[in-house]
Amino acid sequence: MADIKKIGVLTSGGDAPGMNAAIRAVVRTAEYNGLQVMGIRRGYNGLINGDIFEMNARSVADTLQHGGTILQTARCDEFREPEGVRRAAEVAKIFGLEGLVVIGGDGSFRGARDLSEHGISTIGIPATIDNDIGCTEYCIGFDTAMNTAMEAIDKIRDTATSHARSSVIEVMGRDAGYIALNVAISCGAESIVIPEKEFNFDEDVLRPIIEGRHRGKKHYLVILAEGVGSAIPLAEEIQTRTGIRTTATVLGHIQRGGSPSVHDRVNASTMGFKAVETLLAGRKNRLIVMQNNKIVDIDMEEGFKQTKQISQDDIRMCEVLAW
Ligand code: ADP
Repeated sequence: MADIKKIGVLTSGGDAPGMNAAIRAVVRTAEYNGLQVMGIRRGYNGLINGDIFEMNARSVADTLQHGGTILQTARCDEFREPEGVRRAAEVAKIFGLEGLVVIGGDGSFRGARDLSEHGISTIGIPATIDNDIGCTEYCIGFDTAMNTAMEAIDKIRDTATSHARSSVIEVMGRDAGYIALNVAISCGAESIVIPEKEFNFDEDVLRPIIEGRHRGKKHYLVILAEGVGSAIPLAEEIQTRTGIRTTATVLGHIQRGGSPSVHDRVNASTMGFKAVETLLAGRKNRLIVMQNNKIVDIDMEEGFKQTKQISQDDIRMCEVLAW
């Protein structure tokens, strides 16, 4: 067991539904084990500026069902420079923080690594709706974002079917197509356009729409990942080339908000719990990740080297099922 008495927790980078469940788990597991726990507002900005306050079991009451993050989040350019990291480490030491739990994405973990070089034990918990962190099968917020997108697309599909229209729906995901592929499968889209698959307009969009029309299809859904392009020009091109009225919808930030799903709440709670247990066990500079469907802790540097691939089988299945 480590002789650790005081830890901090912050959220950094883009917000994701389920972050509050993770914060709550960190705070309560810490308090249960006799640790003092400090909340840091607005990510690394709060650390540099000493925007730090004591938390306890009651300060996280009534939070796990809400989206966003009660600690607020931010990007912090100052922290990218060695001087910013040095100042943050100094503040952490002034506040007596021996351990720090960072809930965020890949960039936030690199910041945590820099901070650990100043003697602070850091633990990263992956939270991003994009699910684009190579060493983990799952990131907090991913499930809720997909469910939000799916519900919205189901509604668009109702009206597209009624009018025999085509719809292009742009979903989030940054440079990854995880949200797009999963919602395309779950909504029965005719086409998916994602960064992980080479894009050919005639083959990937035009052909499924024209062939689908001949087979009697009443709607044509195209799911576009934001990392590839924009919905409006794609919809215009479909309309011009097919004569089918085509609408464009950009789901945008509705995918980032909202009450977290069961899956996100359970996993975020488990990851927060595990983060504190890892610190208590004396393991430092670790990432809490999902591998082979289990939540485990791995070495941070090892985690940075790991990559994952979107399933090409799932892409093919999506196309077959849209037949
Ligand atoms: P995410 O954590 O979601 O990937 P960002 O990439 O914006 O989001 O990172 C969040 C914050 O983490 C940045 O504003 C910066 O303070 C810090 N950060 C990002 N990348 C690095 C890096 N390579 N080295 C040190 N700190 C970084």
